Amino acid sequence: MAELRCLVVVLGDQLDIDAAAFDGFEASVDAAWMAEVAEEATHVWSSKPRIVMFLAAMRHFALDLRAAGRPLHYTRLDDRDNRGSLCAQLQSDLLRLRPARLVMTAPGDWRVLQAIKALAQANDLPLEIREDRHFFGSIAGFAEHAKGRKSLRMEYFYREQRKRHDVLMQGDAPVGGQWNFDADNREAFGAAGPGAVPPRTVFEPDAVTREVVALVGTRFTRHPGRLDRFGWPVTRARALRSLQAFIRERLPLFGRYQDAMWPGDPWLYHAHLSAALNLKLLNPREVVAAAEAAHRDGHAPLASVEGFIRQILGWREYVRGVYWTQMPDYLERNALDAQQDLPAWFWTGATDMACLRDALAQTLEHGYANHIQRLMVTGLYTLMLGVQPKQVHAWYLAVYVDAVEWVELPNTIGMSQYADGGVMGSKPYIATGKYIQRMSPYCKGCRYDPARRSGDGACPFTTLYWDFLMRHETALARNPRMKLQVKNVARLTDTQKQAVHERAVAIRCGEVGVAHG
Ligand SMILES: Cc1cc2nc3c(=O)[nH]c(=O)nc-3n(C[C@H](O)[C@H](O)[C@H](O)COP(=O)(O)OP(=O)(O)OC[C@H]3O[C@@H](n4cnc5c(N)ncnc54)[C@H](O)[C@@H]3O)c2cc1C
Ligand code: SF4
Repeated sequence: MAELRCLVVVLGDQLDIDAAAFDGFEASVDAAWMAEVAEEATHVWSSKPRIVMFLAAMRHFALDLRAAGRPLHYTRLDDRDNRGSLCAQLQSDLLRLRPARLVMTAPGDWRVLQAIKALAQANDLPLEIREDRHFFGSIAGFAEHAKGRKSLRMEYFYREQRKRHDVLMQGDAPVGGQWNFDADNREAFGAAGPGAVPPRTVFEPDAVTREVVALVGTRFTRHPGRLDRFGWPVTRARALRSLQAFIRERLPLFGRYQDAMWPGDPWLYHAHLSAALNLKLLNPREVVAAAEAAHRDGHAPLASVEGFIRQILGWREYVRGVYWTQMPDYLERNALDAQQDLPAWFWTGATDMACLRDALAQTLEHGYANHIQRLMVTGLYTLMLGVQPKQVHAWYLAVYVDAVEWVELPNTIGMSQYADGGVMGSKPYIATGKYIQRMSPYCKGCRYDPARRSGDGACPFTTLYWDFLMRHETALARNPRMKLQVKNVARLTDTQKQAVHERAVAIRCGEVGVAHG
């Protein structure tokens, strides 16, 4: 066997044929390496749609690599000698292939980076880790931005990104004279509902994906989620079709209804592109360029286009920077000392709260919920219930098809659970059921009343909001942005406080909120 110069390690979320890891690749002396391993589906209790998303995309990418003439060593989940974990598989293959060096694009997960570094060291093998140029900015660039700042705020970072990458700029000024159109982007649908929302782009599984669906269905039977509705794009060509459909059909109303919710429809005017982006089937530059062009061509209003670009050029890059500058202890943060267990019904959807039931059903069915459902329904509930942040993190990382740790963790620990004590957000996002009532018609079909904070029929969100303020009153009173909310606690009588407390205890014990029968 000719000597192998470089073994290029490709992870399941690095499916880009133009990735830095392939720079200088020569088919005569180099080879790529990929492995499907059970550990990645079990280190959190990964949902079936999420496992299929990754494996189906990997198998399609393997076909692309081979079609491009790049030698590939690929281990399938059902191969007899599969070693079960990335490192065990790589170790076994290193002994067989004996490459002179390992090359890879920087992994997105801290855990994986440490494991591969340790493996290379144990084998006394040079490991070259190349910058992931999928992103607009680098981690070093973010660290530079963060240096000397007491707290990190997305808005300042986003403005720098706009200038540096010349996105929606007119000379030194933002197009339209404003950096941010957030205030225009908070509409609900109103009583008439969302009307004729363009249908989501669904891809019928091909033979490769069907094989994976069958494999996951038998191998991971007890994992959460369903597979009968799997319709995600698992190839670059399909991801590009999704992007085009979004720009054409949904982008014009994206901004306006970004925060709206509607029962039975998680898709609305959202892009549904996060999984394709995170697996690197799409490049954020092409996504941002397509949105910018839609504004230039007069197809989509600036408020929508800016709102969408802010998510990708701003939030997505910002959370990556937070992740890499705060790990590894970020994973352990629990600033509010939350110790409650995650309710078991988060894995089944068996709750009688209409808003949560819908968000969970969609999550389990499709591996998707839109941002506002993640932040202001599921996340809001666990925050105010006081669930241990690490359990919340394990749930979010398990259930969504777009879930990879670098993006999921800061969103969960920081933005949603305030477990980082304010690194990402200046205050916890808390609200009563009235917020959900304003942004959706869920409450009309619910057995609970969002206006009631205690007693039978009180909305658990409303009870838990007051309970949260009462439990954290002293700490929150020090936060200038929370002062007004905290002041309202002082207006409650002792009897009212006691009633809130009793109802919150009943919720925590599972006497309220669980669906029976
Ligand atoms: C608790 C919690 C957990 C989350 N976990 C994940 C996750 O595991 N993976 C993930 O990609 N996103 C995560 N998000 C962010 C966001 O909810 C999803 O990116 C979005 O819902 C994906 O749907 P979409 O493609 O239709 O997005 P759209 O609403 O259409 O937004 C467009 C794109 O912007 C990017 N984006 C939007 N919001 C964010 C954000 N807050 N952080 C980073 N990128 C963003 C995504 O790439 C998304 O595709 C999480 C948010 C919360 C509150
Ligand atoms: S009443 Fe409360 S639990 Fe029911 S849908 Fe409204 S916010 Fe959700």
